Amino acid sequence: MAKGKWTNAEYNRLVVLFNDGKSVDEISYELKRSSQAVLNKCTRNSLSFRDRDKPKYERGKSEKSDDEIPCLRCRIDFKSEGIFNRVCPSCARLNAGYVGVVPG
Ligand SMILES: [Zn+2]
Repeated sequence: MAKGKWTNAEYNRLVVLFNDGKSVDEISYELKRSSQAVLNKCTRNSLSFRDRDKPKYERGKSEKSDDEIPCLRCRIDFKSEGIFNRVCPSCARLNAGYVGVVPG
């Protein structure tokens, strides 16, 4: 295992491997440094493996808002809780006063 300070070349390689989606173990093997050294170096340079591996999955989820529909009463887009939920929360509160009124 190499010890001591990271050279710029090593650090650049680390960033490339990190962005390549390599795991800590793969990077540590490649750079001949301990996993802990790789993790420390990444942490110090704001390279978070957790953040790197997470967003890909959650990004598609937040960009898509196909569960948002326009309210039947006020036409303002809101997040529907399901197929029966066609009126936004503020209108639903108003509707609650009218017994027997079925939205839609
Ligand atoms: Zn509404």
